Amino acid sequence: MSATPESTRGMFSVVVPLYNEEESLEELHRRLTLSLEPLSDSFELIFVDDGSTDNSFAVLRDLHKKDNRVKAIRFRKNFGKSSALAAGFKEAKGECIITLDADLQDVPEEIPALIKKLEEGYDLVSGWKFKRKDPLVRKLASRIFNSITSFYTGVKIHDFNCGLKCYRREVIDELELYGELHRYIPAIANWKGFKVAEVAVDHHHRKHGTSKFGSERYLRGLFDLLTVIMLTKYPEKPLHFFGLLGTLLSFAGMAINLYLLILRISGKWISNRPLLLLGILLLILGVQFIFFGLMGELIVFSSQKETTYTVKERLDTDQTAHQ
Ligand code: UDP
Ligand code: MG
Repeated sequence: MSATPESTRGMFSVVVPLYNEEESLEELHRRLTLSLEPLSDSFELIFVDDGSTDNSFAVLRDLHKKDNRVKAIRFRKNFGKSSALAAGFKEAKGECIITLDADLQDVPEEIPALIKKLEEGYDLVSGWKFKRKDPLVRKLASRIFNSITSFYTGVKIHDFNCGLKCYRREVIDELELYGELHRYIPAIANWKGFKVAEVAVDHHHRKHGTSKFGSERYLRGLFDLLTVIMLTKYPEKPLHFFGLLGTLLSFAGMAINLYLLILRISGKWISNRPLLLLGILLLILGVQFIFFGLMGELIVFSSQKETTYTVKERLDTDQTAHQ
């Protein structure tokens, strides 16, 4: 294939977060190498063992002995998928970085299709499990989460949380993952100005073991969604969000209280009106929201070393000038 200016055919790094996946690792390694060898003769497979309590790391040790392209990091305890991805990204040396789950639900044979899409000029290509092989409740919940995320962030893709993704190096250098924000990587990347696309990919049932996330995933997912909306919509201006909400509530409270004041002046008895409680409540809430916003502004101001921006290219500028 001829190299285009956007070509990614340098080195590939594959990052695999795993937690108790001993039965899947050998097959995953075999299928990954078979899929990657035709694409490039230079790639590395970085397995991040997120504190497994089974034999996963022993299997990785064996794989590393047989294949020096296999690298492995072992956490002291289970820190979560976002941390495992972040550790793998830190280690990755490739120009193109691919992630996939270790449980063989993501299909390694789909990687070439993702890379092809990346070479069309995108910075991040996410898989879309269009025929998802998971329980119905999860499929429904995920559909709701995906639609809300897409609506609020303006990223028109169907599946934000597919384990199979392909990134240009620049995206990885700008991503800061913590908590469980891995669920919203395309939204964060898009906010930072990267071009995001998706490719429909095959998805399989889990072959071995069970899912590592329980039903608390939905509540956490919801909190993380709020975080992502705050981060991407109001990153430096919390007062714009809380201030608007606070002002609306305060005005509603003031209108109610004004109405009750007029009634009182015209001689009506108002202390038996539930509306009085509502008016006071709205006013207090409104003022509190405005103060939340102001405090948020102070935190942003004191914690921000530089304003949020991402640079695509530089011509003859001194990068170190502001460091
Ligand atoms: N995983 C991880 N740390 C965790 C939970 C999961 O590294 O704390 C890995 C897991 O081994 C798998 C991937 O993240 O490779 C996706 O997890 P899982 O298959 O359990 O999620 P599901 O497919 O049910 O969303
Ligand atoms: Mg899975």
